[in-house]
Amino acid sequence: MNALAEEIHVNVFDRIDCLECANCCTSIPPMVNETDVRRISKYLGLKTSKFKEQYLRIDEDQDMVMNQSPCHFLGDGNMCDIYDVRPKACRQYPHTDNYEFTKHLKLHLTNTRYCPAVFHILEEMNDALSRG
Ligand code: SF4
Ligand code: SF4
Repeated sequence: MNALAEEIHVNVFDRIDCLECANCCTSIPPMVNETDVRRISKYLGLKTSKFKEQYLRIDEDQDMVMNQSPCHFLGDGNMCDIYDVRPKACRQYPHTDNYEFTKHLKLHLTNTRYCPAVFHILEEMNDALSRG
């Protein structure tokens, strides 16, 4: 099933332009780990403590996340102002292009509410599996 998901992921993202959407950047504060903090702070020329104070908060699951939605770094034309150093969570979203697709089924179901690509991927998976 993971190989099928990978194939469908590629096809769906061929048709969807994330710069026309940006729903993830406007509605889901991404997790930011300590490695992300060091990389982004350096890029912005800020001390890590200042970056955390200005841009991050601890959420209800005790994860460090961006403290604002839409994201502080969502720029003109829905471009990410820190694209080259963006958090790992942003690079990996929506987690449908790896061979662990089936490990994250619950997450994918939640993401159908935010991400049109995930919605189409699950729909096409369902169609393909129903056809056998
Ligand atoms: S850091 Fe960039 S990619 Fe991540 S949510 Fe913010 S604008 Fe989007
Ligand atoms: S919500 Fe999905 S389709 Fe929209 S920008 Fe994010 S990854 Fe792309």
